[in-house]
Amino acid sequence: MQRSLKLKIVRPYDESITWEEIGYLLRGISYQICKMSNYCMTHHLLRALGMETENLNPQGNLYCYPRLAKEYPDVPTGIICAAEGRARKVFQQKARSVLFSETALPTFRKDCSIPIPVAGYSLLKTETDTYVANIQLLSRKAAKTGKLPGRIQFVLANNWRDKKAGSVLRRLAEGTLKRGVASLFRAKRDWYISIPYEAEPISMEEAFEPGLVMGVAFGSRCALAYAFNHSPKRGELGGEEVLSHQKTLQVRKMQIRQQYNWSGRKGHGRENALKPLQLLYEKERNYRSLTNERYAKWIVEIAKKNRCGVIRLEAANLKHLGKPNIVLARWPRAALRKKIRDKAEVYGIEVQEYAADKIQSRCSRCGAEQEPAEGNRWFICNDCGYGKEEKKTAGGFISVDYNAARNLAVWEEKDRGIKPRLNIAK
Ligand SMILES: [Zn+2]
Repeated sequence: MQRSLKLKIVRPYDESITWEEIGYLLRGISYQICKMSNYCMTHHLLRALGMETENLNPQGNLYCYPRLAKEYPDVPTGIICAAEGRARKVFQQKARSVLFSETALPTFRKDCSIPIPVAGYSLLKTETDTYVANIQLLSRKAAKTGKLPGRIQFVLANNWRDKKAGSVLRRLAEGTLKRGVASLFRAKRDWYISIPYEAEPISMEEAFEPGLVMGVAFGSRCALAYAFNHSPKRGELGGEEVLSHQKTLQVRKMQIRQQYNWSGRKGHGRENALKPLQLLYEKERNYRSLTNERYAKWIVEIAKKNRCGVIRLEAANLKHLGKPNIVLARWPRAALRKKIRDKAEVYGIEVQEYAADKIQSRCSRCGAEQEPAEGNRWFICNDCGYGKEEKKTAGGFISVDYNAARNLAVWEEKDRGIKPRLNIAK
């Protein structure tokens, strides 16, 4: 998992170098990076459109480096390569929407950040316990003719608020953490360095309750329900929010459709009429992504709190199982599963997926199948009486959704009906 450390640059370590000189140098590089990045972007576009560009390597790929190195001889080669790489990444991300004329070609501004390749900087600890970043900012040629050295050392601020930053910086300096392409950027009047690093997953395995499994099912009354195999703890995440949101979305869609009667429209008229609808869809995508983020966090936090090392999810695809009657029926559930997996991974929690057949109608205590409880909120087993006694206890009713989640949590692979489908983590 990638994280990054942002530190303020206090001053040049070598006191004979003034801030004025440094500021001038950094602003100059930033401006040159902006120009070369935009150059790369333009040529990526030319190439994508099938037009002529002279910057091709023998393999036929775009390669602006020789041209840029000639034009900007003062900038270190590593920085040019990093800038070219960054521009390529940005272009690839946006290429589709640019080529479909949905967005303009992204451009870099004159105060854009300066990418510093891994080989172009190092972190050192001084005797007075301050940290110094040693960064190559000038090419060898420029350093020879100019006043400034090629590599300049900067004192980094040590007034970090969180204690973790200090230990991360120490480990970066020791070389025990893997660092990535850093960037220098300006915010207001100060310069900062942002150093990405690879954070290893926090090991919690010893802290997990052995054998504890948390089942998470898509609810018919709620968005998600969870249950544990060895614990009566349970919970549901209400579905009202999603349902009411989907209702407003439907209403808004109808409104837009009525407002623009585009049956007769052609060309631009139709395009313009479709715009509000596209905007609406985009908003909807954002809403879903954010909601999924929240749901995933909720689930993983509960697993963490209960020291549960295994989360068992209901796998795709509910539609072909003949029960689209869940709240999150028309929802990016695959994206939600992925978010849960990503978050769980950080804590070493294993995520399993089961294609569970009839989990709503099966009794999670005795395994007997009950009449499909169509429209029923509460689950009652006619074979073992599960749900009948519980009504009177403090735990309360057994909801259909809780029973479904519990089915996932308690049933073993050998059991009928719940077949192992995908075992994501080891
Ligand atoms: Zn039963």
